[in-house]
Amino acid sequence: MKGASMEAVINKTRLLLVSGDITKQETDAIVNAANSGLMGGGGVDGAIHRAGGPAILEECKGIRSRIGRLPTGKAVITTGGKLRARFVIHTVGPVWHGGNRGEAELLASAYRESLGIAVSRGLKSISFPSISTGAFGYPVQVAAGLALKTVLDFLNHDSNLEEVVFVLFDSETLRAYERSLDRLLKNTAG
Ligand code: ADP
Repeated sequence: MKGASMEAVINKTRLLLVSGDITKQETDAIVNAANSGLMGGGGVDGAIHRAGGPAILEECKGIRSRIGRLPTGKAVITTGGKLRARFVIHTVGPVWHGGNRGEAELLASAYRESLGIAVSRGLKSISFPSISTGAFGYPVQVAAGLALKTVLDFLNHDSNLEEVVFVLFDSETLRAYERSLDRLLKNTAG
């Protein structure tokens, strides 16, 4: 892993914050900030389908015909197609409506469900983008704190993963995650 901007060990898992493009990651799985339709879209979703090729969309269509729309806060797994990652875990974060429509619980659920799928498949490493903070409008500093707290809580109870990476696309997002991780690590140390 080149250029980790921040690194911590939580229980037995390495947690990394890096800047970059999640489609280039070599973890066992990368997480897609998908939408309920599972048919691709803009932002990181579009980038993953472009880089991974049509096999990902084919599998998404199969899932869609079996289960219908994927509810917010849930996750499913497909092949990684041509990506270096063997799998893509598609999860749906909440659209931000001001914070009183269950957004926090749904965002936490998107992270927990993705981690749970990775562990249940026996995967050892997973990369996340900053779910919901692009087109879905979740304020990035609030989302960063919640994303990291949810992942830390999960890792403190489950030591099956070796590595969890947050791949942050722009410097404002990276800084928001750095500030939050710093704060959370100080709290647990104190
Ligand atoms: P959402 O609809 O969940 O808000 P977006 O894809 O619009 O999802 O944005 C989520 C985050 O992913 C944003 O911070 C955006 O800048 C970032 N992003 C976009 N493309 C990539 C990429 N290739 N790798 C990592 N992050 C990306």
